[in-house]
Amino acid sequence: MTTAVKPQRPIQMVDLALQYHHLQHEIDEEIKKVLQSAAFINGPAVQEFKKNLEAFLGVRNVIPCANGTDALQIAMMGLGLKPGDEVITADFTYVATAEVIGLLGLTPVLVDVDPDTFTIDIEQVKKNITPKTKAIVPVHLYGQCSDMEPLMKIAKEFGLFVIEDVAQAIGAEYLFSNGKREKAGNIGHVGCTSFFPSKNLGCYGDGGAMYTNDDELAAKLKMISHHGQSRQYVHDVLGVNSRLDSLQAAILNVKLKYLSEFNQKRKEAADRYDALLKGVKEITCPKRFEKSTHVFHQYTLRLDEKISRDEMKKYLLEQGIPTMIYYPIPLHKQNAFKSERYANAEFPVTEKLCRTVLSLPIYPEITSEVQEYVAYHIKHFISRYAS
Ligand SMILES: *Cc1c(COP(=O)(O)O)cnc(C)c1O
Repeated sequence: MTTAVKPQRPIQMVDLALQYHHLQHEIDEEIKKVLQSAAFINGPAVQEFKKNLEAFLGVRNVIPCANGTDALQIAMMGLGLKPGDEVITADFTYVATAEVIGLLGLTPVLVDVDPDTFTIDIEQVKKNITPKTKAIVPVHLYGQCSDMEPLMKIAKEFGLFVIEDVAQAIGAEYLFSNGKREKAGNIGHVGCTSFFPSKNLGCYGDGGAMYTNDDELAAKLKMISHHGQSRQYVHDVLGVNSRLDSLQAAILNVKLKYLSEFNQKRKEAADRYDALLKGVKEITCPKRFEKSTHVFHQYTLRLDEKISRDEMKKYLLEQGIPTMIYYPIPLHKQNAFKSERYANAEFPVTEKLCRTVLSLPIYPEITSEVQEYVAYHIKHFISRYAS
């Protein structure tokens, strides 16, 4: 049963300090090695991390870079997308996904998502393909893969690139109809991920990576991320400066060893929330998409529209329970993406999700005590509200 006993340690969405406490010995040791080597940029730790991540993902090439946003931008540059090209992505995502499309002078074409999985709606993708369409960016939101099999089929049919936004789903696996499993990011032409501290594989600053099985593309991505340089001081294309530094790579080398275990613990925590919240008809727990594993970057509820989300959020915070709304405003309604294109467009699913989603604290180290306390207060609020 759920309890109202408030845990001693303040509850956070992600308890990074607690995780550091568990890994401190190993991490401090690796940081010290980098400091002593003074190889701060592109040192051995970066090369080691590249190899380790390639092995973990089962991919031929990992290209580390400075953050997940850069990864998406460099991927689009490497694929040769040109101003005017249309790139289809989800309306319901973090701004970075669509931002880089716009920054490169490409045209973001935002489309609605599936109400149960929160990922790009395949029918909407089809409807929005034009002769200018060059790429699709599925976002594996909250830790679950988009429906990649039909998406790749469409991409093949129309000759489109697929850039997977894996910032929230590193380690998730997609299950094809023939029984084959593939890690998120290995299915399209290139996968892009982020090591922002709160992501499932987070460093202690900014970091990101691209990955691909296409060696030629990998060489381009590497070149672009290093000022378009093919050899020292020889610049073949316009590039950017986007590097993963050695300190972050050293931290990631430690944390990567635990990623599978951490993802498993997130899943167990999610199952525990499901059980604790079972039967509360005003809330819908996250659906498990049968074609993907879920690494629960977020555990996101959908609330009945009768429930005031603002009041619930406020009540929970008063009990010491933080919650977050990922994301409150559809991208097509943001000033940055204002376009004639959306004047009469309808995004009923994204709009409803923006009004009704609420993410609860989740991290590998979360205790059942914390979860019981969270569930108790969610139920308490709802029962008060409903009566
Ligand atoms: C975090 C995130 C990004 C951007 O990653 P940064 O490392 O913060 O630049 C991109 N897309 C999604 C879906 C994200 O969650």
